[in-house]
Amino acid sequence: MLDEATQTAIRRAAEVLLRSRHTVVLAGAGMSKESGIPTFRGEGGLWTTQGEPPLNQYETFAADPKRWWERRLADARAGNAFGASIEGAQPNAGHLALAELEDMGRVAHVISQNIDDLHRRAGQRSLTEIHGNRLWMRCVRCGMRWPREEFPVDEADLPPRCAAPGCSGVVKGDTVMFGEPIPPLALARCEAETAQADCFMTVGTSAVVYPAAAYPIEAARRGVPLIEVNPEETPLTPLADIVVRAASGEALPALVAAVRGQQTASHGEGTR
Ligand SMILES: [Zn+2]
Repeated sequence: MLDEATQTAIRRAAEVLLRSRHTVVLAGAGMSKESGIPTFRGEGGLWTTQGEPPLNQYETFAADPKRWWERRLADARAGNAFGASIEGAQPNAGHLALAELEDMGRVAHVISQNIDDLHRRAGQRSLTEIHGNRLWMRCVRCGMRWPREEFPVDEADLPPRCAAPGCSGVVKGDTVMFGEPIPPLALARCEAETAQADCFMTVGTSAVVYPAAAYPIEAARRGVPLIEVNPEETPLTPLADIVVRAASGEALPALVAAVRGQQTASHGEGTR
């Protein structure tokens, strides 16, 4: 049950969403966590308990992609707890509500830092997965992407190569590694969406990972209203016009209901 202050914040957020024409959302690990996927950073996070992966991950891959692929296939065969939890994860009420806000015309675009595919599975259509998607593959040369199951990897001929005519670049998992540049197309889309935004909402992100963290800051600096949905205080909190201190699985369905309620109310007034 949401407390009164949170309910008031949600009503105000609904008003702002209804006035806005182009709301952009930045979603983070908090949303995945509510689907049972362990986070990387923070208390109990995978990297907090097991140490951060090497910062030169991409360099290691680029230096010897064949060896990297051999290790990846061996790891996949061995399996691990993280892989299992992500494999079984389902979109939660927060993912579904965010997709519903798009259907209602209240959210124009979602920039997600999550790689778990749950936004897509919830029905989000206008989506940039800035750190990639674990179920996709990508050519590092031309940026072409394929669903993993449509791109069989021949273990006798590693690394896999791009099938685009005249490319033959090395293919890797779409998930962006440490030290790997974010694909330019994804960056360009995020920048264009942020530049158009007349409302910006962050959900379940502590906004410490750049460049993603820069988008809400940039919007707020331009005077665009910033809504924060997060159970805890974040570095963005001081910039936020409206703070909803709740988990996305509770807050976003309540926000959908509030938007519907206010829509109906204003429609009623208009027809009287
Ligand atoms: Zn290619």
